[in-house]
Amino acid sequence: METGRILAFGAHAADPFLAAGGTLAKHSLRGDQVVIVCLTYGERSHAFRLWEEKAAGKSSATVSDIKNMKKEEAKKAAEIIGADVKFLDFEECPLVIGRTELKQMVEVVREVRPTAVLTHWIRDWVNPDHAIAGESTLRACQYSGLLGFETTAALHEMPPFKVENIFHYTITPMRLAPEIGFIPDCYIDIENTIDKKIAALREFKTQSRPNLDIQVFEKHISYYAGYRCHALYAETFKRNWSPPQAIQYLDH
Ligand SMILES: [Zn+2]
Repeated sequence: METGRILAFGAHAADPFLAAGGTLAKHSLRGDQVVIVCLTYGERSHAFRLWEEKAAGKSSATVSDIKNMKKEEAKKAAEIIGADVKFLDFEECPLVIGRTELKQMVEVVREVRPTAVLTHWIRDWVNPDHAIAGESTLRACQYSGLLGFETTAALHEMPPFKVENIFHYTITPMRLAPEIGFIPDCYIDIENTIDKKIAALREFKTQSRPNLDIQVFEKHISYYAGYRCHALYAETFKRNWSPPQAIQYLDH
């Protein structure tokens, strides 16, 4: 079987680990290449503990310091689940993705040539930057296949690549979120990798909350998803698009 190449985009460093850490670890164990792309570090919106400490005068960490901390957290988390991680360091709050940023995203797609792409759900307006990241990923995947979309790399060095499989995720609890139209149609059994996922999430200390035990929280969510698909623990995804298929009869 050909080795897979899984490319996961996240608006903020922790997002792909939260939504898909068990699935990414599972692919890594299968021998697939797994690449996580952090569009931003989440230094302003996903560093709750540090900003509370700064507001209370208990920390003098600068934004640059917070970025570095989150970068180290993501690198350690990626190592635990067996993934490579790239940081594009876009501005966040708001996350604005124009032509320059899209070119960088297309270059990553053309470089990795993924057999599957993961990204945010495009209507995940609970955090609008998540929705922007999801929509921008769809654009990057589309433009990646176009000869006419040029990046800074020469086309013969980084030729176009057509993405066949795109899956959306949400980190909005409970990962089955009808309020944003996220009704998953794919469930991945993560019984064998949930411990790796939780170990990876524990690395994100900058965004820990005093009243939230990440192990209890994530196990509950994964258990609930698993219950729906007869697995002990599962993660939820929504396929972006499936090509229409002609079938001969309704039951075959
Ligand atoms: Zn996020």
